[in-house]
Amino acid sequence: MTTKKQIEWQALAQKLPLRTQAFIDGQYVDAMDGATFESINPRTGQAVSRVARCGIADVDRAVAAAKKAFDSGVWAARSPRERKQVLARLSALILQHADELAWLDSADMGKPVNDALSIDIPGAAGVFAWYAESADKVYDQIAPLGPEVHATITREPVGVVAAVVPWNFPLDMAAWKLAPALVCGNSVVLKPAEQSPHSALRLAQLALQAGVPAGVLNVVPGLGPEAGQALGRHPDVASLTFTGSTEVGKLFQRYAGESNMKMVWLEAGGKSANLIFDDCADLDLAAAKAAFGFCFNQGEVCSANTRLLVQRGVWDRFMERLLVHLKSWQPGDPLNPDSRMGALVDRGHADRVMQFIVSGRREGGSVLAGGQRLTIGASDCYVQPTVFTGLGPEATLVREEVFGPVAVATPFETEAQALQWANSSPYGLAASVWTDDLKRAHRVARALRVGTVSVNTVDALDPCVPFGGFGQSGFGRDLSLHALDKFTQLKTSWFDLKT
Ligand code: NAP
Ligand code: MG
Repeated sequence: MTTKKQIEWQALAQKLPLRTQAFIDGQYVDAMDGATFESINPRTGQAVSRVARCGIADVDRAVAAAKKAFDSGVWAARSPRERKQVLARLSALILQHADELAWLDSADMGKPVNDALSIDIPGAAGVFAWYAESADKVYDQIAPLGPEVHATITREPVGVVAAVVPWNFPLDMAAWKLAPALVCGNSVVLKPAEQSPHSALRLAQLALQAGVPAGVLNVVPGLGPEAGQALGRHPDVASLTFTGSTEVGKLFQRYAGESNMKMVWLEAGGKSANLIFDDCADLDLAAAKAAFGFCFNQGEVCSANTRLLVQRGVWDRFMERLLVHLKSWQPGDPLNPDSRMGALVDRGHADRVMQFIVSGRREGGSVLAGGQRLTIGASDCYVQPTVFTGLGPEATLVREEVFGPVAVATPFETEAQALQWANSSPYGLAASVWTDDLKRAHRVARALRVGTVSVNTVDALDPCVPFGGFGQSGFGRDLSLHALDKFTQLKTSWFDLKT
């Protein structure tokens, strides 16, 4: 059944001016060789648009525009307070265009439009507002060297920053990179993921409208091995910030090593554990959040809690509650306001998620819930939330990131065993812990080798706290003041006063 709201979203889509050209030096331009690629809506399987396919020449042009803007001081030399005002205006503009931006992200990658509207768009606006506020609140330092030396330690912008981002939270991932990079005075060239270029292209125009000068923010849509690699190897890019898979992250380290030794910062994949101890008082809440932890955003979340470790004493009761909660996470039309789970990003990715489910069965696992691919409307990009049991530590599904709504549940006996299993992954992005024992909560949080531990919740996240990984989940941190380290370099200026 088509709801009134679905019809309204479709009407909005008809009216939207879709931005499909690259955004360089304040203008929309075609790729220099005129190349384009097709962008497909996974909800319909239909093409949304053809988008400029930027290559080496376009990246050269965008980096040159960024460098020229940086060197001119048109942004870098403005007062922090002025940059604050501009980024605060951009935050407000994002909220004013919330419907449009939510539609673009949902149409590009299949997430429920209501999630985009209630989570992604306010999230992106919030990150710009938070970094805008930081502009005139971060102080430099004077070294404690006594009266005969005055030595200052100042943070200076690096110059041209490249940002290469994935498709799972298109606008948010862009905001996490752009806001701290811009507030420090850098110029940026952003490459959105191939599957989700539209909101980034619109954001660039809103930034110009907010007062970010031409050339300071450039967007080069295109393919990873083309536009992404060209940024990774560019001699005039000083710092490259990446979110995406571990495999591609390693390529960026190589590109940097083979070019100008640019700084590279990687937010990569994950295989996060969720530890439910038998002293957890509210098992129903733990089960509800566990379902959220691997179903939200179709499970296409780097920190998704896909390894459920459940202490033996509460195994039966917890699993029973989990199955009840999973009923509210069935996939549905992304435009239906009641859908909590939408379409996977594309058919190729849905094929990949189904191959993981086949591997789980082949390797001896039992499917406790889900396991099926669904066709809704004209699209077969939907996969049920799926829970496996009976898989050992060597199983593919226990080791590898699926990036879909698939979890493996395993009972454990002791805290030491749970910690050993939780820490046995090469990834180390996040973990959750459910316990009402205060001492255990602190002990386990300390022992987990991950970037974020959520105690009695899942996926704790806020611009105030850093986000990033241990191990092969990457290094460097997004969000919080710590993110400024990626976009500034420290300068020591030593004034000898005794001579
Ligand atoms: P991906 O394939 O690694 O792509 C990420 C970005 O890198 C895209 O813009 C992509 O362009 C580009 N790229 C791909 N191949 C490249 C190459 N050879 N050279 C240069 N650039 C290249 O990741 P994804 O499939 O978009 O996103 C899913 C992954 O992101 C998962 O592994 C997930 O865990 C990770 N992720 C991590 C975090 C975090 O904060 N740790 C957050 C969100 C997602 P194309 O779009 O053209 O391929
Ligand atoms: Mg990709």
